[in-house]
Amino acid sequence: MTLSESAPTNPPGTTGHSGIDGVGRLADDDVEAVVNEFVDQAWDPEITVQQWWARMAEARLSSPTLPTEAGGRAWTAVQATRASKVLADRRVVGPPSGLGMLLAAPTIAKHANADQVQRWMPAILAGTEGWCQLFSEPGAGSDLAGLQTKAVRDGDEWIITGQKVWTSNGHECEWGMLIARTDPDLPKHQGITYFGFPMNQPGVEVRPLTEMTGRALFNEVFISEARVSDADIIGGRGNGWRVANSTLAFERMGISGGHGGGFGTATPGGIAGHLDRPVGEFLGYRPPIAVGAVGRRILRVLTEEADSRGRLSDPVVRDALTRLHMLHRLAGLSARRVSAERKAARRTGGQRSGLGVGVEGNVAKVHNSRVLMQARHVAGLILGPDAALVGDDAATGGMLQELILFSPAPPIYGGTDEIQRNVIGERGLGLPKEPGPSKETPFNQL
Ligand SMILES: Cc1cc2nc3c(=O)[nH]c(=O)nc-3n(C[C@H](O)[C@H](O)[C@H](O)COP(=O)(O)OP(=O)(O)OC[C@H]3O[C@@H](n4cnc5c(N)ncnc54)[C@H](O)[C@@H]3O)c2cc1C
Repeated sequence: MTLSESAPTNPPGTTGHSGIDGVGRLADDDVEAVVNEFVDQAWDPEITVQQWWARMAEARLSSPTLPTEAGGRAWTAVQATRASKVLADRRVVGPPSGLGMLLAAPTIAKHANADQVQRWMPAILAGTEGWCQLFSEPGAGSDLAGLQTKAVRDGDEWIITGQKVWTSNGHECEWGMLIARTDPDLPKHQGITYFGFPMNQPGVEVRPLTEMTGRALFNEVFISEARVSDADIIGGRGNGWRVANSTLAFERMGISGGHGGGFGTATPGGIAGHLDRPVGEFLGYRPPIAVGAVGRRILRVLTEEADSRGRLSDPVVRDALTRLHMLHRLAGLSARRVSAERKAARRTGGQRSGLGVGVEGNVAKVHNSRVLMQARHVAGLILGPDAALVGDDAATGGMLQELILFSPAPPIYGGTDEIQRNVIGERGLGLPKEPGPSKETPFNQL
């Protein structure tokens, strides 16, 4: 069955053609009606993952917070969370997972030119191409602007040489968000350029790194005279630091604003091999990185597990669970504050208002880490020695054990919590900057 035979001819909330008329902001309550109507018309567990995602992209529901010209609906984060909740309640498969949706799509929407949006966005939103983040290097993590990977101009192309590390899902991606040094004579923040980088080419070697969960989520990527077109620079030559900071801001928000879980998901791109399989197979599937944030599902599982082990009346467990719920609620309120700040900024034409000092995303990320660490503590209290057993046949299907093993990661990725606190101190509270060389020193003199 082709998409045009099987998909609604006029997806809810759209005009049914590629224009954007009729798509725009809605009252919060109408969001649920739009998503419910879409699921009624489009869900079919027997179509392939690729067909389902094509329908979702056509209905502009893959990433509805994106602007309309980039394939979204310009919905607020609160509305997108409501949309995700409907998908979870309806027990369907959600939009493509991964960094293409989380980071590449909003970065491209914000900084890429119209031609690039046209070239890259449809495949991201329909999940047919995966993207990874080629930022960190062995000597450049917290000090990301110290990166050494170099890009040298060669006609209409750039030749890239260097090493990246911690590249999540790099082994399953067609494209990378690559930052490389194009002008070593300039100060370190100014000589960086951001590329959409094709991964499948000679000179790119992706080597998996096994983490303590036993899986190899991330990789080392060795780049040896690989090539990228000048037309694939995002945001202009030398502007990479500004563009990378947008990506990092989206990463922080993504980490702290998890959808709460509950729907099935699949891995985008041609390499993972999910696209041609029936979408119904992925209802219970959760990608390995699922426990990066604590959602309602984890809270429920913790309480149910404590109850089934007769631990709910234990004052230590009760106290720890109550504290977890309080921290979770605070994190939720913090995320809502970010959303309210954005709304206010839109109303005032970009001017921040009220309490906003521009570090809400950093605060939200630190909140997320606190919730995760408390959840990890509670899981250990409840499971006791069973916490050491992993796998589908372990208690809770291995979910809480996964939480325990993976929870140290989110306080590191997207910029460590120490770095978030530095930013909050310096930009939010006006504390003095960390000592270091002048920002004007050329990179090659550092
Ligand atoms: C699960 C996971 C997935 C990741 N995925 C990706 C990815 O897909 N792509 C990518 O590019 N990167 C990725 N990263 C890398 C991540 O962004 C870096 O690990 C992170 O920025 C920290 O850098 P680093 O590991 O080099 O640590 P370092 O920068 O060497 O820091 C080591 C320690 O020193 C502390 N520290 C450093 N500088 C300061 C300072 N100025 N003040 C106070 N404390 C400081 C840090 O907080 C940390 O505790 C991932 C990391 C993890 C854990």
